[in-house]
Amino acid sequence: MRTHRIAAIGGDGIGPEVIAAGLQALEVCAERDGGFSLDVQSFDWGSDYYRKHGVMMPAGGADQLRAFDAIYFGAVGAPDIPDHLTLWGLRLAICQPLDQYANVRPTRILPGIVSPLRHVSGPELDWVIVRENSEGEYAGVGGRVHKGLPEEVATDVSMFTRAGVTRIIRYAFEIARSRPRKLLTVVTKSNAQRHGMVMWDEIAAEVAAGFPDVTWDKMLVDAMTMRMTLKPETLDTIVATNLHADILSDLAAALAGSLGIAPTANLNPERKTPSMFEPIHGSAFDITGKGIANPVATFWTGAMMLEHLGEKAAAARLMRAVERVTADPALHTPDLGGSATTAQVTQAVCEALRGGQ
Ligand code: ATP
Ligand code: MG
Repeated sequence: MRTHRIAAIGGDGIGPEVIAAGLQALEVCAERDGGFSLDVQSFDWGSDYYRKHGVMMPAGGADQLRAFDAIYFGAVGAPDIPDHLTLWGLRLAICQPLDQYANVRPTRILPGIVSPLRHVSGPELDWVIVRENSEGEYAGVGGRVHKGLPEEVATDVSMFTRAGVTRIIRYAFEIARSRPRKLLTVVTKSNAQRHGMVMWDEIAAEVAAGFPDVTWDKMLVDAMTMRMTLKPETLDTIVATNLHADILSDLAAALAGSLGIAPTANLNPERKTPSMFEPIHGSAFDITGKGIANPVATFWTGAMMLEHLGEKAAAARLMRAVERVTADPALHTPDLGGSATTAQVTQAVCEALRGGQ
């Protein structure tokens, strides 16, 4: 029997609610599969931890996580703590030292879900967005001088390295190659940002030479928002910088029906360190504690985690169960226009898992 060690970090807001739902479904997956078990350890890191200890996680927290095979993460952020403190204090404090440089965000319209793009049906929107997750606009380079004075200057430097850009573009080409259409769009803003973005374009052309079977093109990020909205069927795999892909993937999540569905994986593709799996959405304090958070993003995230752990059959079974549930509007949470609760959706997915193929 294979055992996978999972670190579960519920975090803030609806994070603990959806992670609890996700773990419940994953346990049923393991039971149903019979070939593996999950050894889950939970960590109470996040904003409550910050209020007690003045830090989001203990010193050496990221190192503790190295002992695990994967990290299952809820959300971070609280209304009373500045967002940059919570983000840098937990999520990025894990992603960066563990070198989870590829943030992978599959997007498609699940059965039963209606896209706000009324002209688009399921198969016409099926993307994987690959977000550079270690440098660029979120490198943390910059500062403020003359704080609070009229002459104050603040800088945030986008820092791109040849090694960092090469590895993310290569990984995106590999994903594109693994998908039926073998199609990659490289997104930049190289007309206005004349240094780092021009280097992206150059590196993309260099890496492309090694993938003659992949068709690729370049888009400026502004035009990309229009193409995603008006011609979604022309896109498949998409690679962009940390900031650009952050924005594009929120757009993608909305076009696919709801932020409550969208999953993501923060990967170290070489598997030198554990990867982290989380729903794209945040802590959503407006619905925290109401029992109505949509757990589908966290289930899909769990399926990505199983796949990464080598449990491909269980991952596929979980996605089939999720799709059977989304196909039934009576099992939609309020973000999808329904009135189902987190518990009802979770129960339905667990039942579908027990009964399904
Ligand atoms: P953060 O700052 O952590 O990103 P946020 O509250 O700014 O948190 P999100 O949590 O991403 O942003 O939520 C944006 C909106 O989408 C909110 O109205 C929230 O209620 C809704 N939402 C997000 N996730 C879900 C979910 N899983 N189920 C239902 N609604 C959700
Ligand atoms: Mg937000």
